[in-house]
Amino acid sequence: MNIRVINSVLLVLVLAFSASLKAEWYSESAGIMGTNIYVEVWAETPVQGELALRSVMAEMERINQLMSPYIDTSELSLINAKAGQQPVVISDEMFELLDKSVNISALTKGAFDITFASVGYLYNYKQNQRPDEATIASLLAAVNYKHIDLNKHNKTVAFTHEKVKIDLGGIAKGHAVDNSISLLERMGIMHGLVTAGGDTRLIGDRRGKPWIVGIRDPRDEEKQAVVMPLQDSAMSTSGDYERYFEEDGKRYHHILSPKTGKSTYDVQSVSIIGPSSTYNDALSTAVFVMGLRDGLGMINRIDGYDAVVMDYQRKMHYSNGLQQ
Ligand code: ADP
Ligand code: MG
Repeated sequence: MNIRVINSVLLVLVLAFSASLKAEWYSESAGIMGTNIYVEVWAETPVQGELALRSVMAEMERINQLMSPYIDTSELSLINAKAGQQPVVISDEMFELLDKSVNISALTKGAFDITFASVGYLYNYKQNQRPDEATIASLLAAVNYKHIDLNKHNKTVAFTHEKVKIDLGGIAKGHAVDNSISLLERMGIMHGLVTAGGDTRLIGDRRGKPWIVGIRDPRDEEKQAVVMPLQDSAMSTSGDYERYFEEDGKRYHHILSPKTGKSTYDVQSVSIIGPSSTYNDALSTAVFVMGLRDGLGMINRIDGYDAVVMDYQRKMHYSNGLQQ
């Protein structure tokens, strides 16, 4: 027998042995999409557990390659390079996510708008860089989701203003979490958690107990502002602490108003609880931009969604569905 055959035989023996082991929790974390990914599943066997963890990490990496603005060959980068000049044929997955993004823009009266990037790409939070007033003013006309022309029949996207750029940073992680949860469900996982940065979704409970999902204190990494017991649900948090720099005592952070091209300051943190991570992700960004009154008002009108908001004075506010 050569070494390969011996290895295969050993692998089969290990698999057979491990299949007889009892069920337990399996977890793993990794840095993908510029954020921390964490997966935890209850699996019947080590093989099922390992396969579940592997599949989620692979899905995260796949979406990163498709949607990262930092990868020149990503589908997003290709769209940004070409759609200002001509319609670009895109994947079904990208088409659907762009379509959702545009619908959420309409729902949030433009507070969520992936064309924020027409100005937003000039901010570099790691290098304390921001565009000057004149540059912002010259690019603001390109920030408008109505410039995104989606042709359902041809599966193309075109920008009707040549300076438009899009960025999916406010929705792609939620989409990745939703896809990951679907993968786990198809594998028969009955209890699980997937987190990508501030976006978390759960399958079932933590075997007899709810999952406890924390909302961190925006000004203290070590502290939780609130913890939410959840099951079979999802929660996304947007905060002014994820990416920012300070200059003359002012915080320039990564959530920008499409109206001004600048950071907004009415709230420090917004968490949205609802069934879909894709929507939670985008709505948390939208409510952050809309501010406490308008943002909470909107969430109170959307069935199945709730919000926890910390305002600029660090006072907590809850949507109607969370108050009794
Ligand atoms: P994170 O989980 O990365 O903190 P959020 O869900 O809070 O992300 O979304 C912030 C990201 O969304 C920003 O880093 C940027 O990529 C994008 N973004 C910023 N402002 C807007 C906006 N007004 N509309 C849509 N996307 C935005
Ligand atoms: Mg978000």
